[in-house]
Amino acid sequence: MFFPCACYNTEKNRTIRGIFPLTTIQRSAIHPTPYIDVHHHHARERAGTIGICSLSADQPISRQHLPLYCSVGIHPWDAAESTLSEALARMEGVCSDPHCIAIGEVGLDRLRGPALAEQERVLRAQLDLAQVQDLPVILHDVRSTSDLLRIRKDYPRQQWILHGFRGTPELAEQCLGKGFHISLGPGLLKSAQRGASLGAVIPPDRLFLESDDSDRDIREMYDAVASWTGMQVSALLAQIEDNFHKVFGVQS
Ligand SMILES: [Zn+2]
Repeated sequence: MFFPCACYNTEKNRTIRGIFPLTTIQRSAIHPTPYIDVHHHHARERAGTIGICSLSADQPISRQHLPLYCSVGIHPWDAAESTLSEALARMEGVCSDPHCIAIGEVGLDRLRGPALAEQERVLRAQLDLAQVQDLPVILHDVRSTSDLLRIRKDYPRQQWILHGFRGTPELAEQCLGKGFHISLGPGLLKSAQRGASLGAVIPPDRLFLESDDSDRDIREMYDAVASWTGMQVSALLAQIEDNFHKVFGVQS
């Protein structure tokens, strides 16, 4: 579902894929170091945050009202080869807009959606598009990490962000070993022990945080990860802002 983030609807002071330096963002209106929400589905962002609003390509998208930053993709639940070509055409249209800084969310889900083989074909078509557009990919993974690691061999240099990760530290290490970034979301807030064990294996420069479709404030994720890792929130803010710039091509 597409929600334009109306808070960024002016043309001035946008920082989009390096077109303008980040210093031109109205930082005073945001925060000296913004909270980065790497994956969400909200209508608008809270003050002091910058996020990537996830747009679904299974319906028309108005390019006149794109959020400051968005990703676009066919969610694995909606994967359908019968409508793939029109969805890809929509994605190509949005990808050419500088507001779109990633493909996503896309991926594989063994518990929901069409047969995994169909999901994989739809995923691969989108990874091919990401290759052409030189965009990072935000991935949904439910019990399909081994499949993603297999597919990774065909896209070894793409920037992949595994969103909403709740797997084991061992699984995280396998993904990190293949160059993934890992994004932690509110699903972990009830599980400080798992959060701490993940915080112990994910290097800060491979970490992102997200609110996804929850109504939790992204600040809660920063506070939780700070408590799990012993990092200061200020250091976490600076690190994730740096990760955001490097992975999504936004210059600072
Ligand atoms: Zn999501």
